Amino acid sequence: ADRGVPAVVGAALRVPLVTGGHIGYANLDHAASAPCLAAVQAAVDELLPWYASVHRGAGFASQVCTRVYEGARETLLDFVGARRGDEVVFTRNTTDALNLLARAVPRGTSVVVFDSEHHAALLPWAGPRVRRLSAPESPAAAVAALDEALADCPEGPRLAVLTGASNVTGELWPVAELARVARRRGARTVLDAAQLAPHRPVRIGELDVDYVALSGHKLYAPFGAGALIGRADWLNAADPYLAGGGATRVVREQSVSWTTGPERHEAGSPNTVGVHALARACQTLAANWDGVIAHEEALLRRLRAGLRHVPGVRELRLFDADHDRVGVVSFTVDGQDPGLLAAALSAEHGIGVRDGLFCAHLATRRLLARAGADAERAVRVSVGLGTTPEHVDRFLTALRTLVTDGPVWRYEQRDGRWSP
Ligand code: PMP
Repeated sequence: ADRGVPAVVGAALRVPLVTGGHIGYANLDHAASAPCLAAVQAAVDELLPWYASVHRGAGFASQVCTRVYEGARETLLDFVGARRGDEVVFTRNTTDALNLLARAVPRGTSVVVFDSEHHAALLPWAGPRVRRLSAPESPAAAVAALDEALADCPEGPRLAVLTGASNVTGELWPVAELARVARRRGARTVLDAAQLAPHRPVRIGELDVDYVALSGHKLYAPFGAGALIGRADWLNAADPYLAGGGATRVVREQSVSWTTGPERHEAGSPNTVGVHALARACQTLAANWDGVIAHEEALLRRLRAGLRHVPGVRELRLFDADHDRVGVVSFTVDGQDPGLLAAALSAEHGIGVRDGLFCAHLATRRLLARAGADAERAVRVSVGLGTTPEHVDRFLTALRTLVTDGPVWRYEQRDGRWSP
């Protein structure tokens, strides 16, 4: 805490090992879901006694919850440095936020998206006006490819889908440059900030993107709350994302008139506790960015330096030169099954990593081929506020042991997963 690094709940979890006994659990899968911050747990504890319906209740607890819920919108606007007129629609997560936007774009909108995106950003767009660009090999190539594709789009509204940081490699995309090109070509932009927002400040106005999507569970809050933040006009002109209570102005036998503003897309009772938790996580990160970034960069350097000394390791990389990245590294080890490595890291060493194609099948397959890997999936290690240098060292020692001596236990594959 004295270094400006927020405390995480559960960083000292202990897990049973197949080899016997218990060991401190090293969660090296922050990119999937980050552990909850202590400040977030305190915020949830504080709200639970007041738990009541939002917006519709006249009671005092309802008023408290309504104030908390609406206050969270202000916090999120602040967190992303929103412009006047931007609004926050609370969603379940980034996937939900991007699907909402995909439903809200005006009819006939041309959409340009890189095929290296996470499926949440790649798949919601449908129709003949969707153009997929191949994963670029450098930030400059990305900017040039987007420019060219947008120049080719037919007349009418345009949207470029951008990612802040890759969930496979952690590499940062040149968002401001891409947004500048898009603006010049008359296109709006949406930033998938699921992986960026937990690690670096995202300033919507400075980046000049039109929409930002993010998830609470990657931002050190619990599951179930995310947001789409950005320009109100398309959202107000679109059909409601969900039809139901809270999104209506007047309902008559033959007609419904829908409200405008974020409530238009938030029908049903909202996740007040999740939204409050998300807002507190945003406040905590915003007050500690220097410490958060320094902590992660030190861990990432340690991790990558150590991986270089493990024989046969091939790190996946999107861009040709080494590039700034958040704390995510995917790799293969020559001659080793990534799924088996991940299973043995968990069972024998109490280390949680992830293996597979990481909901970015096109990107990961392409990067495996580029790296000359002999495997069809990779191992992903991702660090964050719940990670200590000791976790990283333990992972490196464990990996080296598994690669040189093999697992202690016998593993078999069931439904594509290895188990001891
Ligand atoms: N985009 C990126 C870059 C991600 O890493 C993820 C989550 N892995 C998502 C989108 C989707 O996030 P969620 O599962 O919270 O909807």
